Amino acid sequence: MKINIHELNKKSEVTFKGEQRVSLKGINPVHDVLDCMAFVEGVATKSGNRYLVKGHVITTVLLLCDRCLEEYKHALQADLYKEYSSEEFLDDEDEDIVQVTGSEIDLEDAITEAIYLNVPMKGLHDDNCKGICKTCGQNLNKQSCNCEKNDIDPRLESLKNIFHPQSEE
Ligand SMILES: [Zn+2]
Ligand SMILES: [Zn+2]
Repeated sequence: MKINIHELNKKSEVTFKGEQRVSLKGINPVHDVLDCMAFVEGVATKSGNRYLVKGHVITTVLLLCDRCLEEYKHALQADLYKEYSSEEFLDDEDEDIVQVTGSEIDLEDAITEAIYLNVPMKGLHDDNCKGICKTCGQNLNKQSCNCEKNDIDPRLESLKNIFHPQSEE
């Protein structure tokens, strides 16, 4: 998604709407999020040498479930808010402002950042995901297994959680 600066200078406000392919590969090593297509819309306004881009990003990313390690689709919405400047030298305190040269503002980095900031730290394909058996590796959403831990008396299970509070993870 690109905004023509000449047009923005002339009209001082330009709306945009469309799709942007975003590569998130390697950004989030935990989830191995891959490419996605994002729907983007918003408005760019000019104020002096500064350009403010405000908008909205909607996309679906592929995540790995933390419990069962299966891939699943996660619908995501993000706010887009980025300031750009055509000034040659920016103050240190303006480190959030992106310098633009040439005749276009490329929104790809800002869109990528907005999506990345909204990817959940912990992925769950379903709140009721049963996960993987730690003993035999069976995906318990697909099939149960006969490992011992399934036979634990529920009263003992709650005792176990007292002594090993992290074992729920
Ligand atoms: Zn899962
Ligand atoms: Zn098992």
